[in-house]
Amino acid sequence: MNSVTTYSATTTDSDATKALGAKLARLLKGGEAIELSSDLGGGKTTFVQGVAAALGYAEPVTSPTFTLSNIYRLADGREIHHYDLYRLNEGGIVGDELAEDLADDNVITLVEWGGVVAGVLPEDRLRIDIEVTGDDERQFTFVSGGPVSERLVKELSA
Ligand code: ADP
Ligand code: MG
Repeated sequence: MNSVTTYSATTTDSDATKALGAKLARLLKGGEAIELSSDLGGGKTTFVQGVAAALGYAEPVTSPTFTLSNIYRLADGREIHHYDLYRLNEGGIVGDELAEDLADDNVITLVEWGGVVAGVLPEDRLRIDIEVTGDDERQFTFVSGGPVSERLVKELSA
């Protein structure tokens, strides 16, 4: 049995969500899988913007709704692979690409709308569930599924 650890946080504007993304970014090494879940407009992409900016990525970050994935190359050689699978009906070739990313310790993988690739995502992923609790208020719950994501949740809570 994997132990499940959770961390919760509330943000009341986009900047606070980006700051929360930055807080997570500082803990990432590479090889992590992160699945973001919320309704449309929940703040998934805003969170990813905070992660990328904190890792020194200076270009604009937008949801890859039509391209399905974006790659952000970091100065230290690592890469963020940002998926948005809202428009994908079956995992297929994108699922294969995702599986390759997940096997690469140089890649930090962040997935929006990952339900369609549930069979590809590892159990040991960091799940970030976002609830819209007001116009500008978002309730974040970080849930671990194994040792790698558990370290992240514990360090976020520390
Ligand atoms: P998603 O990727 O989940 O569809 P986005 O990050 O693209 O969501 O959009 C979130 C929207 O909600 C943006 O328009 C943003 O300005 C707004 N917003 C309001 N409050 C917050 C908050 N606390 N955190 C994140 N986004 C917020
Ligand atoms: Mg998005």
